[in-house]
Amino acid sequence: MLTFQDTPKLTSPCLRKGRGTCHEVCPRVSSGRYQIEIREKLKNEIYTTPYKFKPAVTGCPNQCVRPNIHDFGIMGLKYTKINEDKCENCGRCNEVCKKEAISYDEGVAKRNTDLCVTCGNCSKACPYDAIEITGIGYRVFIGGKSGRETVEGKEINLTSEEELYPLLEKVLIAYNKLADKPQRERLAATIQRIGYDKFMEEVNSIQL
Ligand code: SF4
Ligand code: SF4
Ligand code: SF4
Repeated sequence: MLTFQDTPKLTSPCLRKGRGTCHEVCPRVSSGRYQIEIREKLKNEIYTTPYKFKPAVTGCPNQCVRPNIHDFGIMGLKYTKINEDKCENCGRCNEVCKKEAISYDEGVAKRNTDLCVTCGNCSKACPYDAIEITGIGYRVFIGGKSGRETVEGKEINLTSEEELYPLLEKVLIAYNKLADKPQRERLAATIQRIGYDKFMEEVNSIQL
C-alpha cells in the first residue's frame, strides 16, 4: 500500500513505513502493478495543485489505505463471471464472500451484483474453476478527504489502466482552474461549491 502526500506539488509519494505496496506484500491484491508505476510517475512528473492533494492507491476492495477519503483514491478490482455450466454447487464461493453476495438457485451459484464489491475472492476459492476472471479494473474516488470533516469521494469505475493517468491529470487541471481561495480550498470543497456534475463536465471537456 502507499499513500502520496505532498503539497502543493506532488513530488514525493511515500510508502508506509515498513510496508510495501499491495503488489509487493499482499496475496489479496487485484491489481498492484500500477501502484509502482504511479509512484514512479509522480516522482518523475511535477503536478501543481492549488492546495493539499492526497492520492491513495490500494490493491483491492479491502481498501486498507481508505482511498474513499482521499482527493484521488484508486482501488484495484477484479471482474469475474460465474460459469453456471461448471458450477458444482459446492458452496465454497459463498463461504469466502464477505459481502454475502452469492446465493444458490437451482443448484448453481448466482451473484447479487448490488452487493458484490468486485474483489474476485470467490474466483480464487472455486475448486472447479467455475468463476472466471474477466478483467482487471479500477474504482476511482474523487474529492474525498478526512480531517475535521470527513467527505467520501465520488466513485467512477474504470476498466483499463490507460484511463487512470489521463483522469488524474484532468482532475488536477479542473481543480487548478476552479478552486477558490488558492492555498485554502480542498478539492472536496471545490466540488461541494460548484457541484459534482459541473466539476465533471469541466473534467470531461479537457483535451490532453
Ligand atoms: S488493500 Fe487489499 S491488496 Fe492491499 S494490502 Fe489491503 S487487503 Fe491487501
Ligand atoms: S465455488 Fe465454484 S463450484 Fe462451488 S458453488 Fe461456487 S461457483 Fe459453484
Ligand atoms: S467478487 Fe468478492 S464480493 Fe463479489 S461475489 Fe465474489 S467474493 Fe463476493
